[in-house]
Amino acid sequence: MAEKAYQICINPDCGETLSVDQVIFSCPTCGSLFDIAYDWDRLAVPSSLEFFEHRWSTKGLNVEGRLDFSGVWRFRELLQFVRPEHIVTIGEGRTLLEENNRVGAEVGMKPGCLYLQYEGLNPSGSFKDNGMTAAFSLARALGRNRVACASTGNTSASLAMFANKTDPPMQGIVFIGSGKIAYGKLSQALDYGALTLQIEGDFDACMRRVKQVSDKLGIYLMNSMNPFRLEGQKAIMYRVLEARGWEVPDWVIVPGGNLGNCSAFGKAFMELHRLGLIKRIPRLAVINATGANTLYRLHEKDGVRWNGGRYDQQKVKSLYAEFDSTGYLPHTIASAIEISRPVNLPKALRALEVMNGVVREVTDEDILEHKALIGRYGFGCEPASAASVAGLRQLLREQVISPDEQVVCILTGHELKDPDATVKYHTGIDMKAITPPPPVPPKGRFANTPRKVADDLETICAALGEKLPD
Ligand SMILES: *Cc1c(COP(=O)(O)O)cnc(C)c1O
Ligand SMILES: [Zn+2]
Repeated sequence: MAEKAYQICINPDCGETLSVDQVIFSCPTCGSLFDIAYDWDRLAVPSSLEFFEHRWSTKGLNVEGRLDFSGVWRFRELLQFVRPEHIVTIGEGRTLLEENNRVGAEVGMKPGCLYLQYEGLNPSGSFKDNGMTAAFSLARALGRNRVACASTGNTSASLAMFANKTDPPMQGIVFIGSGKIAYGKLSQALDYGALTLQIEGDFDACMRRVKQVSDKLGIYLMNSMNPFRLEGQKAIMYRVLEARGWEVPDWVIVPGGNLGNCSAFGKAFMELHRLGLIKRIPRLAVINATGANTLYRLHEKDGVRWNGGRYDQQKVKSLYAEFDSTGYLPHTIASAIEISRPVNLPKALRALEVMNGVVREVTDEDILEHKALIGRYGFGCEPASAASVAGLRQLLREQVISPDEQVVCILTGHELKDPDATVKYHTGIDMKAITPPPPVPPKGRFANTPRKVADDLETICAALGEKLPD
């Protein structure tokens, strides 16, 4: 392979490679996921992490400064898959690592040991912006002008914001199901002008359709399988290190949904270690909700391990078969992690191996208690994010983590994403139980109403203003 960056199938028995401009998200040979790989020997990489510090003083100065302003692209030497002129950035990743001793004391940590990484401070209010900037840059390099995803949550909010801000703008297309809609997040997609299609069906139906439609109409797909998103999310770990004067913490704790974030963290540390930029790798704790605990069950109960890429797929298949036969649906207040078949499962198993990780599950009650704790003594976060601190308390109780270790909890989304959960916690009022009055037709000049469409390919293409190609 001649290119300095390329895609490689993560299955070691396969090793299929693609160039970065091939838009294929599951391996045509074995069905596994792709990773972005670099020929580091042929790329200019700084010899120490301190190199990146000078970019704080050049941010915003010139073309390069536009990139220095970004909390993702100021580390661009560590994600060299796109030319600088194609990079789409909106000032993502300007987030904060806070030493929080009051939350720390509440859960049983010694002073100076607990750090909270507020990814809710991103432009669209969640860590997803770290990944979107990377995937949008690639979409622009490929000359794509329409992008799509299936999600009712932060992915669609982030996609809609980036689509709108790209110059020239791209058309953002968001597929939502007719089930639960998280209004805080949906409202963003509508406000940013994404074409929002409400499919008569559940999330799985949306996922299936968005893949088909993207394939048929040449729309660039931004769902969780897109490996370029994970490249951008590596930067969350670079910033954690930067904020700690490049000192590696003992633990990183993160909520797990589709498992893209923990996978990206594992890849970040694997690469930094290989490049000799860090001497040791922190441990990882991925926290599931008890109502959506697939990774917990597979890793902790069934003992599934990455095993050099030859993980026990039979155990995964039989768990999913059990889901099918029992009609299991995930259920948690933390809607951002309400996922039963995490797309990035194999990569997460790899991250757990690289980072000597553990997985835990926490109840919705725990999540809400810890969300309130973070709100009381910190800047707040959405429910899913609080799983990290709830998980920390549990790991302290089990003495897996000790109170004098350096721990970083990733707070993935902003407090205001889900005010209903907060109001309900503090007042007992369940906004979802209140029957709203019938809708009146929207009159605003910018009104962008979701379009209801049948779960049917031809109808969906028509809603996008196109005919279904033969
Ligand atoms: C997407 C999301 C998660 C889950 O991240 P994964 O990478 O899917 O595991 C957690 N919290 C918030 C707020 C999110 O938006
Ligand atoms: Zn393969």
